[in-house]
Amino acid sequence: MKTVLITGGAGFIGANFVPYFLDKYKDYKVINLDKLTYAGDLANLKEVEGHSNYHFVEGDICDYNIVNQLFKTNNITDVIHFAAESHVDNSISGPEAFVKTNVNGTFTLLDAARRYWMDGPFEVKEGMENNRFHHISTDEVYGTLGKEGLFTEETPYAPNSPYSASKASSDFFVRSYFHTYGLNVVTTNCSNNYGPKQHDEKLIPTIIKKAINEDSIPIYGDGKNVRDWLYVLDHCKGIDLVFHNGKSGETYNIGGRNERENIYIATTICEILDNKRPLPDGKSHKDLITYVKDRPGHDRRYAIDASKLENDLGWEADENFESGIEKTIEWYLEKYN
Ligand code: NAD
Repeated sequence: MKTVLITGGAGFIGANFVPYFLDKYKDYKVINLDKLTYAGDLANLKEVEGHSNYHFVEGDICDYNIVNQLFKTNNITDVIHFAAESHVDNSISGPEAFVKTNVNGTFTLLDAARRYWMDGPFEVKEGMENNRFHHISTDEVYGTLGKEGLFTEETPYAPNSPYSASKASSDFFVRSYFHTYGLNVVTTNCSNNYGPKQHDEKLIPTIIKKAINEDSIPIYGDGKNVRDWLYVLDHCKGIDLVFHNGKSGETYNIGGRNERENIYIATTICEILDNKRPLPDGKSHKDLITYVKDRPGHDRRYAIDASKLENDLGWEADENFESGIEKTIEWYLEKYN
């Protein structure tokens, strides 16, 4: 039996990953360490409550005592690290929390793993040879693209927001723990996720919620910023593959080749809702779309080349944007009804 410390399991991606992982693997215990910030919600983990291999701990990844104690008392064999401050807009208004959690928190976890699993640089304790630290990161560390090109694992880092700068910094600490200490690490850099359980503050839940409530739907700038959207369970499957089969010290990009402009996202959601929940008088939800002042430093385009993950580990996405968004809207319609 292995014991995996999953951080941030009450957030959007973590709350999709934990049930997927417990359901698929019967020989792992999961300890979910989450501070339950505004972004964490235990209601999203109802399906694993009471599961014999699942245990929740409320706590901060920056608190070395808590983290260290968890390693010791539970003999943690692996870490899958999701916990982060994740909203770009919040990083503009209050960057400090991003440095604390994303940089210091990642460092605290790495250092606890190093001390617990290793006797010294490149000296792994007996029986701990396969223990792994998987760091979950974002494609935003690569900065912005013009009309052409894709982010590969070789693209130089060029973060533009305090959020992406903090994630880039955490990626570098992870890298350094491999090169300096020989810690068994992997990092995945994923494009924008969407799907069930995402916090209302993010683009797609905001559009769905505003449309359902018949409020105006805010779209930044000219609406032509491009993101490469990935259904959250496809991300979970990519993490699973890299966690189990990825090469130590390597990074893997995850993205579904689903580049879409923000305005396309908004109009697609509105059209689906026009069918599922028609407005009176033949009106369209699209009439609610309102352009608002652009976000400062707003990256224009992100697009991921996931060839390494596809070719080396056999990953492929099950959903394209159009199939994934249907499922997502169904989930939110149930939530808001
Ligand atoms: P989220 O904001 O929905 O959830 C973050 C979780 O971390 C919450 O449960 C929160 O309570 C917890 N947390 C925050 N600070 C903590 C701390 N100091 N100690 C312990 N727990 C803390 O984020 P998400 O969208 O699920 O993202 C998860 C990870 O995936 C992040 O590392 C993010 O950078 C990365 N990522 C997200 C996306 C995306 O589109 N959402 C894309 C690529 C990568």
